[in-house]
Amino acid sequence: MFAARGPSATPTTPTTASNKTTTEFLSVSHAAQLIAQTGVVECLRLMADAIEADFARWQDFDKSARIAAHSSNGVIELMPVADSVDYAFKYVNGHPVNTQHGLPTVMAFGALADVATGTPRFVSELTLTTALRTAATSLMVARRLARKNSRSMALIGNGSQSEFQALAFVGLLGVRELRLFDIDPSASAKLLRNIEFYLHEYSAQVRVCGSVEEAVRGADIVTTVTADKARAIIVGAHMLEPGMHLNAVGGDCPGKTELERTVLERSSVFVEYEPQTRVEGDLQQMPADFAVTEFWRVIQGAAPGRISSEEITVFDSVGFALEDYSALRTMRQLGRQAGLLETIALIPELDDPKDLFGLLRLNARPVRLRRA
Ligand code: NAD
Repeated sequence: MFAARGPSATPTTPTTASNKTTTEFLSVSHAAQLIAQTGVVECLRLMADAIEADFARWQDFDKSARIAAHSSNGVIELMPVADSVDYAFKYVNGHPVNTQHGLPTVMAFGALADVATGTPRFVSELTLTTALRTAATSLMVARRLARKNSRSMALIGNGSQSEFQALAFVGLLGVRELRLFDIDPSASAKLLRNIEFYLHEYSAQVRVCGSVEEAVRGADIVTTVTADKARAIIVGAHMLEPGMHLNAVGGDCPGKTELERTVLERSSVFVEYEPQTRVEGDLQQMPADFAVTEFWRVIQGAAPGRISSEEITVFDSVGFALEDYSALRTMRQLGRQAGLLETIALIPELDDPKDLFGLLRLNARPVRLRRA
């Protein structure tokens, strides 16, 4: 399946007789507490570094495009990946209609298991963690592709993911001017409320704009993180300016795009895992031979990142399983350090591993069988 390679980027706990079947668990409330305690910006930094370290050993992983179940309202996806030690998977949905029914667009959970035995070792909420890892991935890419002196960012789509994107770029990339736009003004107002403290902390300015054009004009970086199950054109070619970096996060499913086709034609396009992005990304609009660069090649020095200050770069983000692997391991490590992991009885502990039925003898009250 995959070759055993060098040491993994983050440590794992060895399985001992006493913790043979223990599964650690991170709940939503403990994840929220953990992120608040650690600091959102610090979590983003740790996660971006972990994802980059794991992209740097790309060849260690058994990779595949995620498995999607589409319906008229959205998609449900399973995202597996493994190295020689840890198997990871995420369950995630994408239903843009959900917010009209009081549910988030994106909800997720996932697990880490021992490759050696298949024992599930860690189960976690991944809704908050997905927002962190998506912003951390955007940051990892922008560190190499955005112009070094980038100071302004347009942020189009101000829903659940947006605060994390804003804080990654303000807290860790030096952005000092945010321009916000959403078709729902209350979403922008919510974003402003949530990041006010951080804007003050980093002496950053913010402006709510009346249109995408107004937000994008003159911006060094453009982040699109909208949710609509449509072939939308959020950024058109007429909005491009030399040297821009586009972080296109919301076009992540067949029939769901954000960039005009010409934007891609005029840019250098970087992707996570090409077979998946060809189907799900803005790249779905382009012919099969349209050239893109998988970002791990930039990290390994096998491909250049930005090559001039005039070049327009696009990160066609769709979200790849390896980022969730890194995120799960980062949250487990932080959760252990903070004492915020619980243990759950997910897998039976058996005195005789061949006597599964024995569990019923221990737990069930005897039932008298009626004769026919
Ligand atoms: P959300 O529903 O909370 O927010 C989306 C926002 O986009 C809403 O406020 C909505 O009003 C706004 N919007 C919709 N159409 C718009 C338009 N034409 N112009 C401006 N704003 C518009 O969703 P979310 O959880 O923030 O997710 C946003 C998008 O990111 C989704 O499409 C989701 O699938 C995607 N996503 C991608 C990744 C990835 O790794 N690439 C990860 C997570 C989420």
